[in-house]
Amino acid sequence: MERTLILAKPDAVQRGLVGNIINRFERKGLKLIGIKMLSVDDEMLDEHYSHLTDKPFYDDIKNFMKSSPVVAMAWEGYECTASVRVIVGATNPREADAGTIRGDFAIGQGRNLIHASDSAENGEKEVSRFFSDEELLSYDKSEYIHVYEHKERSGDGRDS
Ligand code: UDP
Ligand code: MG
Repeated sequence: MERTLILAKPDAVQRGLVGNIINRFERKGLKLIGIKMLSVDDEMLDEHYSHLTDKPFYDDIKNFMKSSPVVAMAWEGYECTASVRVIVGATNPREADAGTIRGDFAIGQGRNLIHASDSAENGEKEVSRFFSDEELLSYDKSEYIHVYEHKERSGDGRDS
């Protein structure tokens, strides 16, 4: 099972869309294994957005991300990082498909509501950046038998 990080950004908190965002991943069948509200600081942002620090718009992103708290969530699921990115939609909300979170609720590129890890490797890294081991919960989800085939939930290749 992969682990992936979602941040409901300050615009999602301010616009009251956090519950809606959580619901999108719950109804997909993903398992919520950690959640907290926090204010992000420069150090965290420079690490989290290290691929953007030399961009002209980076200061705007940083100021925006510090403008109010964010809600960080760690989700777990089979190949869930790619599935989550599909639900989140394109970075530019004006190009995001209808039905995606960004496509349905956002229009400005710097106000696209949500961060989602872009690869399984980054998912692991980002979950560890935002959550300590103690903040991540391990538990059985009873619905898994109806969400996954046996081979997907167990990884042993068996069909049923
Ligand atoms: N961003 C922006 N202008 C750009 C590109 C990115 O404001 O031209 C912001 C946008 O909010 C985006 C974030 O920087 O969500 C991180 O960029 P990335 O390319 O990682 O996009 P994402 O993974 O969030 O889709
Ligand atoms: Mg990204």
